[in-house]
Amino acid sequence: MRTAVSRLELLRPRSVRDALRMLRNDGPLTPLAGATDLFVALNFGTLEGTRFLDLWALEPLRRITLRDGMLQIGALATYTTLQHSRLVRRHLPILARAAREVGGMQIQNRGTLGGNVANGSPAGDTLPVLAVADAVVVLRSADAERRVPFGDFYTGYRATVRRPDELIVAFEIPPVEGRQWFRKVGTRAAQAISKVVMAGVRGPRPRIAVGSVAPTVVRLSGVERELAEGATVKEAVRRLDQDIQPIDDLRSTAEYRRDVVGNLVRQFWASTA
Ligand SMILES: Cc1cc2nc3c(=O)[nH]c(=O)nc-3n(C[C@H](O)[C@H](O)[C@H](O)COP(=O)(O)OP(=O)(O)OC[C@H]3O[C@@H](n4cnc5c(N)ncnc54)[C@H](O)[C@@H]3O)c2cc1C
Repeated sequence: MRTAVSRLELLRPRSVRDALRMLRNDGPLTPLAGATDLFVALNFGTLEGTRFLDLWALEPLRRITLRDGMLQIGALATYTTLQHSRLVRRHLPILARAAREVGGMQIQNRGTLGGNVANGSPAGDTLPVLAVADAVVVLRSADAERRVPFGDFYTGYRATVRRPDELIVAFEIPPVEGRQWFRKVGTRAAQAISKVVMAGVRGPRPRIAVGSVAPTVVRLSGVERELAEGATVKEAVRRLDQDIQPIDDLRSTAEYRRDVVGNLVRQFWASTA
């Protein structure tokens, strides 16, 4: 470990209200949830001098509830919790499915939904799920709470609208109409970072989102429109170039990613018919 842990400063709030006051009055502070992403950065030595706000003990942020048909998932819900939650399995089964495919058991026990979203990696496996579920991100500061549609949350590569004095406290998921579908493509079946990750909902308004092909998760709005208007999937996939311009990086080439996205759209459509 390149960063000496003994020199790190860690504030441990006892309540969400304390945490938000600390963010406002004692900042700048970096929220720390399961630390599975932050630990990697610590290991690289890139967080020297960072002061942390430990959220782990804030139980209210772990709750998963259903209110007036709206699924509310606390930001601190871990992947293990998401897999076992009856509410998640009933209302958003693709989130439980995505959670099952994240890392190994240790990561699933510590990694949180809020951490995945806040970290903003384009390869984050839950991001396409939240995008097709039309999720809303609930951000709270000591002074106010605001709700941001998931599609407006990212402003660029790992950049979000979250202000330094705000925490993600929860995600709200309206009822999802239609058949849900999720697929992650990596170098192997388990413990792999996504080369392409896709979620889809086949309802009156088809919705498809894809990760790992652009600086942020993207909705395939051109393909969605074609499918909604009754085009065949073959015709719709021809529109892909308008929706995505995949990147070459150390995990894959742009061409491979474009082909895989096309194949996944076809698979989604065939298996939800
Ligand atoms: C071995 C390994 C395998 C992995 N495999 C996968 C995988 O298969 N798929 C995948 O998507 N990810 C994977 N990850 C990445 C990581 O586990 C996830 O992104 C995880 O969800 C991060 O959650 P966390 O609680 O650990 O976040 P942390 O590491 O605690 O925080 C991550 C970032 O989010 C911020 N943050 C956390 N919570 C909040 C909040 N409530 N409000 C505001 N900001 C917040 C932190 O400040 C930090 O910037 C892997 C990581 C490792 C080390």
